[in-house]
Amino acid sequence: MAAKKPFLKVQCTICKNVNYFTKKSKKTIEKKLELNKFCRFCKKHTLHKESKR
Ligand SMILES: [Zn+2]
Repeated sequence: MAAKKPFLKVQCTICKNVNYFTKKSKKTIEKKLELNKFCRFCKKHTLHKESKR
């Protein structure tokens, strides 16, 4: 049995590339993760959301 990985992928909603990883915490579980981060593929700040798996 593999242990649950505490990391979440953070995916750009525009180009769908995974640009960041974040640790899963109780706060991020309860709340939908939406981050405005710089996407190096879009070359601008875009909305990033957590991606399961
Ligand atoms: Zn992007």
